Amino acid sequence: MSLNPENKNTLFSIEVFPPKDDVGLAAIFDNLPKFAALNPDFISVTYGAGGSNVGLSFEISSFIQSKLNITPVAHLTCAGNCRAEIDAVLKQLRESRITHILALRGDLKEGREISDFQHATNLIEYILETSDFDISAACYPEGHPESPDQDFDLSVLKMKYDLGVRRFISQLFFDNEDFYRMVDKAEAKGIDARFEAGIMPVTNAKQILKMVGFSGAKLPSKLTKILSRYENNPVALKQAGINYAIEQITDLLTSGVDGIHLYAMNSPLTATTIF
Ligand code: FAD
Repeated sequence: MSLNPENKNTLFSIEVFPPKDDVGLAAIFDNLPKFAALNPDFISVTYGAGGSNVGLSFEISSFIQSKLNITPVAHLTCAGNCRAEIDAVLKQLRESRITHILALRGDLKEGREISDFQHATNLIEYILETSDFDISAACYPEGHPESPDQDFDLSVLKMKYDLGVRRFISQLFFDNEDFYRMVDKAEAKGIDARFEAGIMPVTNAKQILKMVGFSGAKLPSKLTKILSRYENNPVALKQAGINYAIEQITDLLTSGVDGIHLYAMNSPLTATTIF
């Protein structure tokens, strides 16, 4: 399956994650066809760094492939995994006829030792040398929080590009200027790849503050005002957050973005409203 079968100008993709609680678990396989009804170019499935919940990630990717006839993109992290473990995952993906991987390092957590792969570049190099998977990688409009500066970040993007990556999916961001700046600088460095913009609608204050904490994304004052204004009104907050995401996407589409990757937090209602 191709990620961009009609060679469309703008890709549309959705990210889902294996739920941790029973309610989410019961809903995910009912919700996946609702995402598929939006006809995304692909649905990507997250992977617990260090290998947690791997079985469910596979199950979801296989379901997307075989039952929904949509291309799944399996995220794969390498922090804490040795080569034999990565080989086992690649074998399983191959057996499930999953051909697209978003190759990542994963977040470093206390107690997790870096094993055979220190960086995503090591994983990408290994996969491309030993198999014929199609590889995407992550990019960071505001820079990766561990990078000393954005120039260093761009040199890492160039390493990924030189290894053969031609599609980057961005970390969530709330100020489109950060995304445009990153793409301009990448192009100036000779990186001729597709950059999909990762958009996360703010539908829940607690959840977004957690995500911002993880990613280091900054909240523009317009968004902080929305969060404080609707602090005690979750319904209004959700609507305002969805409106903000729609404004962001409209601006990106007007500017000719390569793709929109929606972090829909497993909610088909949110995805459908935005779509
Ligand atoms: P890397 O590219 O390895 O970068 C990590 C840091 O190391 C950066 O500071 C970078 O500049 C530096 N670096 C990279 N390569 C080199 C090198 N060769 N030499 C020196 N320094 C280097 N996490 C999960 O656990 N599961 C998921 O499913 C998941 N999905 C994600 C999807 C997207 C679209 C994004 C943007 C992130 C996702 N993450 C996921 C989070 C991701 O794992 C973290 O952001 C992680 O901290 C970095 O991953 P990376 O692949 O960018 O790592």
